[in-house]
Amino acid sequence: MINVKSKSELEKMRKAGIITGNALHYAGQQIKVGMSTYELDKIIHDYIVKNGAKPSFLGYGGFPGSACISINDEVIHGIPSKKRIIHDGDVVSIDVGAYIDGFHGDSAFTFPVGNVPEETLQLLKVTNESLYLGIEQAVAGNRIGDISHAVEEHCTSYGYGIVKQYVGHGVGKDLHESPEVPNFGRAGHGPRLVAGMTIAIEPMINAVGEDVKVLSDGWTVLTRSGSPSAHFEHTIAVTPDGPVILTKPTIV
Ligand code: MG
Ligand code: MG
Repeated sequence: MINVKSKSELEKMRKAGIITGNALHYAGQQIKVGMSTYELDKIIHDYIVKNGAKPSFLGYGGFPGSACISINDEVIHGIPSKKRIIHDGDVVSIDVGAYIDGFHGDSAFTFPVGNVPEETLQLLKVTNESLYLGIEQAVAGNRIGDISHAVEEHCTSYGYGIVKQYVGHGVGKDLHESPEVPNFGRAGHGPRLVAGMTIAIEPMINAVGEDVKVLSDGWTVLTRSGSPSAHFEHTIAVTPDGPVILTKPTIV
């Protein structure tokens, strides 16, 4: 069942979204060469808690961190670790959620650190562009497939691999709600979008090949090709005035 949110619920979603977006933005500003992903996770945890919210991911399905931090060929679900050090030239994907007043926000961004190869910067740029092309399609009356198709078309035009095993999703009282929002699909197909729906759109795009594998830690998803991967995500609301990004940061 797809939950449609009331106006007051959307206001709570916005509050959760802003803390989520700000935590992500703040984390991006704090990333430094030599820092461990554990330290970065601590920064995110403390930011969320300081703002009166709870980290959505902490303990979710037994996940041990407050954020998923995935580097280079790690696609998603990287576990923060004192042993995992950020190096010059890395691309660091941070996926964060914050829970407050009964609702979740969910957002991700891949940050380049230092001297990143031009071709990897292009992967980041194109993946982020595909997120916004997907968001543009999140209009009442459209279908989920319109979002999926927009993301897929943009990324495949560059020859990139669309990760298919993991998808975007509805978000609200639960971190993951119906419907699924795949990053591939046919325009005009899938569930109809109506005002009040809140969904996380999150392209996960590999430079080479769509295949992924899960590391022996049971969490970390990697590209099978070993190529870098990018992940950008926003929680958005479908409204009568078009899509509204709920996880847009408000801090500079
Ligand atoms: Mg996420
Ligand atoms: Mg998500």
